[in-house]
Amino acid sequence: MKVTDVSTIRLRYRMDTPMADAIHYMPERPLLIVQVHTDAGLTGLGEAASYGGDLESMEALVLGVLKPIVVGEDPFAVERLWQRMASRPHQRGTRGMLMMAISGVDTALWDLIGQATKTPLYRLLGGFRDTLTAYASAGFYARGKDKSVLAEEVGGYVERGFRTVKIKVGRNPDLIWNPLHQMWSSDYATVPFEDDIERVHAARDALGPHARLAIDANNAWSPAEALRFMDAIGPDRIAWLEEPVATEDRRGSAEVARALATPVSGYETETGLAGFRDLILSRAADIVQPDVIWTGGITPCRKIAALAEAFHLPVIPHVFSSAMSTIANMHFIASLPNGGLLEFDQNPNPLRSELFEEPIVVDEQGTVTMPTEPGLGVRLSQETIDRYRV
Ligand SMILES: [Mg+2]
Repeated sequence: MKVTDVSTIRLRYRMDTPMADAIHYMPERPLLIVQVHTDAGLTGLGEAASYGGDLESMEALVLGVLKPIVVGEDPFAVERLWQRMASRPHQRGTRGMLMMAISGVDTALWDLIGQATKTPLYRLLGGFRDTLTAYASAGFYARGKDKSVLAEEVGGYVERGFRTVKIKVGRNPDLIWNPLHQMWSSDYATVPFEDDIERVHAARDALGPHARLAIDANNAWSPAEALRFMDAIGPDRIAWLEEPVATEDRRGSAEVARALATPVSGYETETGLAGFRDLILSRAADIVQPDVIWTGGITPCRKIAALAEAFHLPVIPHVFSSAMSTIANMHFIASLPNGGLLEFDQNPNPLRSELFEEPIVVDEQGTVTMPTEPGLGVRLSQETIDRYRV
């Protein structure tokens, strides 16, 4: 089997009401699908994360830089192709956009290997489990969304069967060093630091005694602010604290992790095997969170998970963008002995809920069952693509 072509599909869903986390303003949900075509008539699918900019610049990287490297090559040599994709354009950096672009191609190559061997990808990767426990990823900031609206939202997830819910924290304009101040629409739906503590209390109360609450600060705080926030909440009521400080502040994150009984998780904004090696070695996180569509694909994510296992750390991947990102990460998670929990975005997005002919469903126990078809095991809905194509 040889790769004959690489193509992309650009999709965009504009939200009725924009949403925000601690520092990012989101009026729309973009998606760049990568398709790797072969002379065997099989097409592999992947997603290249398009966070931080337009779809077109990411597409240019996939088609201009990576496509010439993989055309004519055998998808089964995915490890060799990954090294070439990372090495030949290495002057363009070993993090960020290049790793996002490689992620899309690498995932599609693994999908092809699964299809060609007629095996679901997670079983090729080790097949540790056939079901995953989903957690509701939600509780974003939005216009007019006060703590009572948040509490109602959070309570609804428990009623639907979720046993863990994650909400956003950190959109605090009163903290003068918050990176929020440099970001797009930095005055949208902000909440002062002290009121943010009340949001968490409201969400915690809405969950009842048996469900778990995680909070995600998206790099907004200093170590001291993170500790002050957690001190105000109480140490035993939060499942994990995600990305409390800047990704580059590994020492600060390690100080927070050491000081808290609550596990610190992260960092979705880290990329590549070497980045996660340094993160794990510095003890900056108690829970490791790579993302198949962002960190560099299935190939480095497997190694990062093995590295985490060697340090007795669990892996809960970051999963946010679309149904493509969900299915790619599902296969990765299902292969892991130190995984099992799936981040499941609850914000309205047809690029998650309507992208495939058979959508990914969470049952009333909060469980997702792995597909039985070969490779990623999904088919794109042409109707959805036609509706949201850019
Ligand atoms: Mg996060």
